[in-house]
Amino acid sequence: MSRVTSEERKKYSREYYLKNQVRLREYRRQWCLTERGQQTRKEYRDKIRLTVLSHYSQGKLVCNCCGESNYGFLTLDHINSDGWKEKKKEYRRHAGWKSYKTLIDKGFPEGYQVLCYNCNCGRDKTPSKICPHKVVIGNV
Ligand SMILES: [Zn+2]
Ligand SMILES: [Zn+2]
Repeated sequence: MSRVTSEERKKYSREYYLKNQVRLREYRRQWCLTERGQQTRKEYRDKIRLTVLSHYSQGKLVCNCCGESNYGFLTLDHINSDGWKEKKKEYRRHAGWKSYKTLIDKGFPEGYQVLCYNCNCGRDKTPSKICPHKVVIGNV
């Protein structure tokens, strides 16, 4: 029977902890790659997106311009286009669900609206930054 000094015991528990930490991290990483993990992550992201879009459309989940109600077409738009331009770089960096998460963290700042992709792109293409839906033809 070998005697274990407290020093050795300390060392052992530290190693055990470190080993476990690595294993846990690896376990989590593996879990994220499983179908179940992917599904959970997707649900989490979808929930965040849904929360933000429904907040900025007053719970209606429709395009603020044309009333498109197909959730798959909806996207978030910065109402003030100039400010948007400045932030575009920053936004691109966090593009995707993380930028939605940021809005939740910031307590839903003013200045955003829900538009469908059509209206969002249409608005971007006119010099006046108004959706073609709202511009009288010939006036663009
Ligand atoms: Zn629209
Ligand atoms: Zn429109």
